[in-house]
Amino acid sequence: MIEHEKKPEPRTPGKAIIAVLPLGRVREDILRVVADGLQGILRLPVDLRDPIAVPEDAFMESRNQYNAMALIKYLDRELSHNSLKILGITANDICNPILTYVFGEAYMGGRSAVMSSARLKAGLLGEPVSREQFLDRVVKVAIHEIGHTFNLRHCHTDRCVMRASNTLLELDEKLNYLCDYCEIFLFDSLREALKDPEVADGSV
Ligand SMILES: [Zn+2]
Ligand SMILES: [Zn+2]
Repeated sequence: MIEHEKKPEPRTPGKAIIAVLPLGRVREDILRVVADGLQGILRLPVDLRDPIAVPEDAFMESRNQYNAMALIKYLDRELSHNSLKILGITANDICNPILTYVFGEAYMGGRSAVMSSARLKAGLLGEPVSREQFLDRVVKVAIHEIGHTFNLRHCHTDRCVMRASNTLLELDEKLNYLCDYCEIFLFDSLREALKDPEVADGSV
């Protein structure tokens, strides 16, 4: 497994990065913990961007929530950043057509992912959780969704961050780490992406 131990080097350093993009007002400690968490796991530069307004056409009036898929499509369509992946973060509640709410959403192998901090503050009985527990959840969701953009599927390994988690209990049960299998898969996927000339010359 020696070939998996070396971290892939971007061809154009500083261009092939993860952009963390606040959609509307997002707490500074959330942004910092997400940027640090992604950087720690992926070992790639993470760029914290200035906030942009939440695109109002993603708002679903009937549900008083934002449509996660519409936000992803907006990030894909509107933003021509020099970054490999974009993680949009919002404090607003997000959902998709088949679920009441989602913590985050991403397309497999897509460029953009989105997550919300709205549902991560409550304990299992509705009481507020500690700041540590809240931020721990935030990081897990961020890594999980970015993992999907690198083609990682849901993992069945005990406590791997790529396990499916539709409830806070399931989110709390997993750890903020990628199992060995997911880590190898992630770095293979990253290596492939960095070979792509469009990524390498920063025109993604
Ligand atoms: Zn997932
Ligand atoms: Zn795993």
